[in-house]
Amino acid sequence: MSPLLGLLISLLLISVAYSTPPEKPITCTNGNSKCTITNSIDIFPDRTICRAGFAAYPTSEAELIATIADGTRRGLKMKATTQLSHSIPKLVCPGGEDGLLISTERLYKVLNIDMNAMTMTVESGVMLRDLISEAAKAKLALPYTHYWWGLTVGGMLGTGAHGSTLWGKGSAVHDYVIGLTIVSPGSEVDGFVKVRQLKEGDEELNAAKVLEIDTHFYNTKLSLEFSTHL
Ligand SMILES: Cc1cc2nc3c(=O)[nH]c(=O)nc-3n(C[C@H](O)[C@H](O)[C@H](O)COP(=O)(O)OP(=O)(O)OC[C@H]3O[C@@H](n4cnc5c(N)ncnc54)[C@H](O)[C@@H]3O)c2cc1C
Repeated sequence: MSPLLGLLISLLLISVAYSTPPEKPITCTNGNSKCTITNSIDIFPDRTICRAGFAAYPTSEAELIATIADGTRRGLKMKATTQLSHSIPKLVCPGGEDGLLISTERLYKVLNIDMNAMTMTVESGVMLRDLISEAAKAKLALPYTHYWWGLTVGGMLGTGAHGSTLWGKGSAVHDYVIGLTIVSPGSEVDGFVKVRQLKEGDEELNAAKVLEIDTHFYNTKLSLEFSTHL
């Protein structure tokens, strides 16, 4: 075979593979109003489009509290949504066309890493990829978790997501939660919003870390393990 023919055949056999993250799940046609939300595969099981009146992108605890207070005062149905929205069921849809989508896309900060206590506190929009790599810098690890980096801490808690093992504490991410700040609608006397800071030993923590009803996790404190693979 001539070298030229060989080169042509090689070029034909080379295929280029691109990998890109999915599109953002929220689209609004008028600023942050008149919105729709979908999931990462672009379709919900019932094939309907989820419409919502508004979307909000808080960047801090104070903004999240103000957003939930405002939504409650206006009587809106609210749902926490994430940067990539990986759940296939229609969990993120607030229902009704005037609902409010509260995205954790801009709540992505690691708030604290305590190497001695082996704990890490993160905002709820932090992705598993960033959680693992930031923990690794401090020689810490969240063990036995999923094999999918694009999930957020809030989404994993909201769905009770888990890896696969029965060793140690098990592999559900909520098994490693030792603190939670949750923000939920409140009554008028509370300023329409309630903020609870739960820590290990509080009776409500076990229920809160697996129950995602009308609440928004702001931050999560996780107990990690020492990593020997660094
Ligand atoms: C490729 C792939 C692999 C997967 N592998 C596994 C696996 O190994 N094990 C497993 O258990 N699951 C697995 N899943 C399912 C996955 O765990 C769930 O889809 C995941 O929890 C979604 O996370 P998310 O951050 O995309 O949240 P979303 O899908 O956007 O949201 C999920 C739910 O959590 C709520 N929520 C999100 N953030 C907050 C917050 N801050 N406060 C309160 N509620 C919130 C939302 O309102 C919604 O109800 C996988 C999914 C994919 C796409």
